Amino acid sequence: MAGSALRDAYAAAAVLGCPVERVGRCASCTAYIHRYGPGGNPLCAGCRAQLTASGTASATR
Ligand SMILES: [Zn+2]
Repeated sequence: MAGSALRDAYAAAAVLGCPVERVGRCASCTAYIHRYGPGGNPLCAGCRAQLTASGTASATR
């Protein structure tokens, strides 16, 4: 059953304030985030902060 996962995605969409079809999993920690569409990001804020702290961000510019 994928029902609970779908419900989690809808709950995340409500918290994030974005359409559920734009909700996805963080590529690093698999947390539900606004991943797709305008303003979306494949990483959550926490993982982005970690990447920036480790200096990987300079490689993405
Ligand atoms: Zn993350």
